[in-house]
Amino acid sequence: MMIGRYFKTNKGDYMKQFWAPWRMEYILGDKPDGCFLCDIIADDKDRDNLLLKRGVACAVVMNRYPYNGGHLMVLPFRHVAELGDLTSEEKLEVLNLIDESITVLKKVIYPAGFNVGANLGKVAGAGLEDHLHMHIVPRWDGDTNFMPVLSDTRVVPVALLDLWDLLKPVFE
Ligand SMILES: [Zn+2]
Repeated sequence: MMIGRYFKTNKGDYMKQFWAPWRMEYILGDKPDGCFLCDIIADDKDRDNLLLKRGVACAVVMNRYPYNGGHLMVLPFRHVAELGDLTSEEKLEVLNLIDESITVLKKVIYPAGFNVGANLGKVAGAGLEDHLHMHIVPRWDGDTNFMPVLSDTRVVPVALLDLWDLLKPVFE
């Protein structure tokens, strides 16, 4: 059973957004042994892995278990856990890629706002503690009025590859 609603894309069509059981599957299911973010960086199948952009030292990846439609993550290539582990160049690139991601999402799926941030530590809702990643979660009026959205599990879109196809060409 899925309950959904649609949001409009820049192609003039509508993508369905679901309230979804599969994030719960992820939360309750077995986790991969290694670091899946390192695996995504090392792999060359960017579409399969929902990787949207490789910068100099950081990347933009779609969250496969999104809190909301267009949920992206910006992360360093290096497997480090803390903001303080980043070099100055990596810190700057993370912020630049967050800015670019927001610009792309605005062009493609017209969010009304964004939540941007990191879950640092399990108690804060981090699913993967060891590889720092910043979340960018688009928000629409009425999607949910419950905060904090970054550790919420309720609103999810389907059609991840369709959305990758829309977002990818808009990233430089
Ligand atoms: Zn890693």
